[in-house]
Amino acid sequence: MLKLPPIRLELQEDESDLRRKIARLLGIRDGDLIGYELLRQSVDARQRGRVSIAHTVAAEVRNENRVLRARRPGVARLVLESYRYAQPGMEPLVDPPVIVGMGPAGLFAGLVLSQMGYRPLLLERGEDVESRRRQVSAFWSSGQLDGESNVQFGEGGAGTFSDGKLTTLIRDPRCCN
Ligand SMILES: Cc1cc2nc3c(=O)[nH]c(=O)nc-3n(C[C@H](O)[C@H](O)[C@H](O)COP(=O)(O)OP(=O)(O)OC[C@H]3O[C@@H](n4cnc5c(N)ncnc54)[C@H](O)[C@@H]3O)c2cc1C
Repeated sequence: MLKLPPIRLELQEDESDLRRKIARLLGIRDGDLIGYELLRQSVDARQRGRVSIAHTVAAEVRNENRVLRARRPGVARLVLESYRYAQPGMEPLVDPPVIVGMGPAGLFAGLVLSQMGYRPLLLERGEDVESRRRQVSAFWSSGQLDGESNVQFGEGGAGTFSDGKLTTLIRDPRCCN
């Protein structure tokens, strides 16, 4: 199986267009595309009036090695990986784990630790989301900055004001090996 870079479909396009685009991206004939599996779908609404759906697919093709040799950008052999939880220690903790910051990293650490039975304490210097929204709007309209609660600081961290598709840098060698 090959993993492909995201393929965009306009809202009026359908599954047959996806199949055609997969074959075109891989530079193969339709008959050489044995099948494909949808790994992820996400809405791309960054361009007003041109909403599209990005499809990440794994494709099964005839003569996979030949397709790989063509070195098409973003096309690679599919490696299925699942999240590996950290192993808990053997001794009970005297104090709860403390997490500083409720950005995506802090929230995820809190979730994982809670699922493992710990009772983490999350500390956040900024305000809750609702208050932050007002402070951020004030900054964007008047330039008046609240140093403690703004786009960067507050519940949800900087991720609160992103479009929700967080880049994981999963291919960065410093992240995974
Ligand atoms: C406007 C904007 C849009 C973005 N859009 C995207 C996007 O579309 N896609 C994408 O992938 N990435 C986006 N990013 C980047 C993304 O938000 C960050 O990579 C991500 O938030 C980092 O997560 P983090 O938990 O490591 O840190 P942060 O989100 O920075 O969280 C750190 C948290 O720690 C808190 N904190 C800091 N110091 C203290 C302290 N002394 N005590 C207590 N709490 C403290 C902060 O208030 C903050 O809540 C965007 C960033 C910004 C600013």
